[in-house]
Amino acid sequence: MQVLVLGAGQLARMMSLAGAPLNIEISAYDVGSQNIVHPLTQAVLGHGLDNAIEQADVITAEFEHIPHDILEVCEQSGKFLPSSSAIKAGGDRRIEKQLLDDAGVRNAKYFVIQSREDFDQAIEHVGMPMVLKSALGGYDGKGQWRLKEASQVETIWAEMAECMTASDSQAIVAEEFVPFKREVSLVGARGQDGAIAVYPLAENVHTNGVLTLSTAIADIELQQQAKQMFTAVAQKLNYVGVLALEFFDVDGTLLVNEIAPRVHNSGHWTQQGAETCQFENHLRAVCGLALGSTKLIRETSMINILGEDTLPDELLAMDGVHIHWYGKEKRTGRKMGHINVCGDYSGELQRKLCALADVLDKDTFPAVHEFAASFNQ
Ligand code: AMP
Repeated sequence: MQVLVLGAGQLARMMSLAGAPLNIEISAYDVGSQNIVHPLTQAVLGHGLDNAIEQADVITAEFEHIPHDILEVCEQSGKFLPSSSAIKAGGDRRIEKQLLDDAGVRNAKYFVIQSREDFDQAIEHVGMPMVLKSALGGYDGKGQWRLKEASQVETIWAEMAECMTASDSQAIVAEEFVPFKREVSLVGARGQDGAIAVYPLAENVHTNGVLTLSTAIADIELQQQAKQMFTAVAQKLNYVGVLALEFFDVDGTLLVNEIAPRVHNSGHWTQQGAETCQFENHLRAVCGLALGSTKLIRETSMINILGEDTLPDELLAMDGVHIHWYGKEKRTGRKMGHINVCGDYSGELQRKLCALADVLDKDTFPAVHEFAASFNQ
């Protein structure tokens, strides 16, 4: 099978690694350069989409901010999964919020802002404090404002107005501030036959809006809630592939924060912690194969490596520690790779995270150090 992935980053790379044992070959479309590249070596294999679409058995995507004309061309080929409407829901918070409402899943109260009058109405409808998010192009907490009190209204409005004039189709989604206890996510797959397989929930720690630590957790009650919401959203979209739902946990009740119509950073732990990893299951789903088991095989955490291209040598010798580099050039804050760490018996994962805190730099890996500090208290 030949699968063309829109996007040529680490997610296409990891799909390529997971697809090889099943004889699934990946080529990647770099939306910026419009080159078709090899997802591991980045070697240029061609230019432009037409030929690549022709040669592919299946087309899929590794990110949601894809120009709509590209989505249309891919959809017209009849080979694109999940649908372009699923990708658009992930890339536009207005569509996403409407989808969540239509699917009947809990999410934060919101109001769409396009004018100054809308902003006043949003304040009335949603109330303060509120979180304001650009509808298009926002990720990892970028393009967001926090409105806590009336004195901030004019300054925030000036910034939001500037953001909206930069693009005609831009808008702001005002959301009630959710006093969550923690953030969790559910990654799962839906096959072409409608079969659904979800992984255990992951608890996610963000630092400055970016995921830094993600750990698979066992919570039967939350898992049930999450699976029910996952099923509602996936069925509403007639979704095929891996889909991620991010949630706020408010005292045991989950609210969906956002969806990602693709393999997700909070699912990277599945490479070592689950029977079948999310990358393989995405490929299985879009290629029309049976889904693989999503069973947890051992407790696992994922640690993002941000802005660094080296790690202490001793990590390679540590039992249950697996390093995944993305082959990228180093840039401040860039996702360069991740570390999966596994424990085989109760308490072992926690002890390994503490051992990692002893060798990893505190500024680069703050979440691991915070975990170790709270565990050792
Ligand atoms: P997002 O890009 O929507 O995932 O937002 C980035 C981060 O901002 C989330 O991971 C939360 O920590 C926080 N956040 C987003 N929306 C809200 C909200 N409505 N209430 C409280 N915190 C939020």
